[in-house]
Amino acid sequence: MVKRRILIIEDERPLAEALAYSLGREGFQVEVVGDGDAGLRRALEEDFDLVLLDLMLPGLDGLEVCRELRKAKDTPVIVITARDSDVDKVVGLEMGADDYVTKPFNPRELLARVRAVLRRTGRGREEGGEDILRAGDLVLDRARHEVWLSGKQVQLSPIEFRLLECMMERPGRALSRSYLINRAWEGDFYGTPKVLDVHVRKLREKLEEDPSRPRRIVTVRGVGYRLET
Ligand code: CA
Repeated sequence: MVKRRILIIEDERPLAEALAYSLGREGFQVEVVGDGDAGLRRALEEDFDLVLLDLMLPGLDGLEVCRELRKAKDTPVIVITARDSDVDKVVGLEMGADDYVTKPFNPRELLARVRAVLRRTGRGREEGGEDILRAGDLVLDRARHEVWLSGKQVQLSPIEFRLLECMMERPGRALSRSYLINRAWEGDFYGTPKVLDVHVRKLREKLEEDPSRPRRIVTVRGVGYRLET
């Protein structure tokens, strides 16, 4: 089996080495780079299966690395941040990252996230993709393209389906408007941001007991939406 390759862009040497060690032990092929410019260069030159990206880096900072990488390719990115305040920047994964962890973190937690991101992005299918997503009594079946609420099937439009799928992949997390638009419209969005609200309203009409007081898909002021678990 071909080893999946992970690029670690992290200037804290002991942390980078510890990560490289634990990921290597799990069968990943790991490369470590200590600054943003070299990291971006490597990520663009080679097709890594995943990039672990520290935000505070010498040279180009992590946010810039992520933005530049995203312009060129869709390599999955997990951001490593030292401060809770940085989470604001990645909440909703505005910068295009797939997930994040806050230092200090448990290596097992990181490993679980690496696996989840690889699975989600289809780069770890041998571990079994999750076709069925669940949030309480809400079930989304990706393979059959069906949504069920309390055992009853709900008919959704393709956009509504993709919006709900995004939210069900990250239940309990605030997702930014731009993230949801990118995912649901797959980069083909030419409307005004209000269009997103229209589709969310339709989703609420289909999924909420009282759409005027949503309890599943809640609005996160200034950010976007969050699916309650
Ligand atoms: Ca750092």
